[in-house]
Amino acid sequence: NRRFLLVRRPDGTPVEADFRLESSEIPAPPPGGIVVRNHYASLDPAQRGWMDDAESYMPPIALGDPVRATTVGVVHASDNPDFAVGQWVMGLNGLEDYSVAMPGGFTMPIDVNAVPSPSSYLSALGAVGLTAYFGLLEVAKPQPGETLLVSGAAGAVGSAVGQIGKIKGCRVVGIAGGAEKCRRLIEDYGFDAAIDYKGKDHDALIAAIAEAAPDGVNMVFENVGGAVMEAEVFNLAHHARIVLCGLISEYNSPEKVGLRNLWQVLARRATIHGFLIADYADRFAEGGMQMAQWLAEGKLRMDEDVQEGLENAYAAFMRLFTGANTGKLVLKIA
Ligand code: NDP
Repeated sequence: NRRFLLVRRPDGTPVEADFRLESSEIPAPPPGGIVVRNHYASLDPAQRGWMDDAESYMPPIALGDPVRATTVGVVHASDNPDFAVGQWVMGLNGLEDYSVAMPGGFTMPIDVNAVPSPSSYLSALGAVGLTAYFGLLEVAKPQPGETLLVSGAAGAVGSAVGQIGKIKGCRVVGIAGGAEKCRRLIEDYGFDAAIDYKGKDHDALIAAIAEAAPDGVNMVFENVGGAVMEAEVFNLAHHARIVLCGLISEYNSPEKVGLRNLWQVLARRATIHGFLIADYADRFAEGGMQMAQWLAEGKLRMDEDVQEGLENAYAAFMRLFTGANTGKLVLKIA
């Protein structure tokens, strides 16, 4: 059982020596529990936060434990009558070949015959798809004709947010890094306008957003924070709604800078709403069904960036922070 352990808390950007790949015996199921053979693991920006010893919505990953990750896999051994060996499940486990899981928590059976790949439960039908769905529809509540600005727009969450915004009749503007990602925003995901934030200073970014959204933006779906967000707030329409979903530009910075120009939020009577997908757990079935329908109808596209092998977990994870990932980043383990 190979396990990708966190052995030291990263100081800023994670380095390879913060982790160790270790081998141990395949565990046996505890009373009432199961052992899952993990096939795919989700690599998420949130994992970077769990590596810090900081107050959050979840305890930090303990040093010496595998990096916590949502996985999909097959029940390898079971001491629970509700989970037969061979059954596909998903759950909050770790970057490891085999995970011990206790049904009742996050572990749930999944139907892999109904989806293109078991990894769909980590992308369109998983936390990122549901984050886009509930974050946009329940928090921002888009109205037809409104303008939606999405940062981290070419990523897993961002690309889904933009497409759902289009389904709801909004004008959708995306911010992403590089010309190729901007091309994909327009051609692959149907955004109305795309802005490359790279190489643009504060004033140039403000001007680019103003050009794409001359009447201001009614909704911001924020995945990035930092300099990008500091330019966005100068383009808010009055009473704009900001869904604060992620701040990836700050996850590796030792001093969390926070938002300067907060005055713009006040002056424009805007609302910033912190969002966590875990709060919608009792509605995942509803969101998943709608996402699956849009996928089947061809109204929604979710790309996956599948990297292979636990031995490549570090390099794969870092793709999130260099922007190398094209779509939902997934690690194939088995
Ligand atoms: P993505 O697929 O969007 O990958 C991360 C992307 O972030 C990269 O491709 C890169 O795109 C961009 N990025 C990285 N560093 C920077 C930087 N310094 N400045 C600007 N952009 C940067 O990941 P996810 O879709 O999984 O996650 C997107 C966001 O959603 C994250 O902030 C994450 O924490 C958040 N999230 C929040 C949830 C919640 O419940 N609140 C649930 C799930 C995700 P580029 O090339 O464009 O720079």
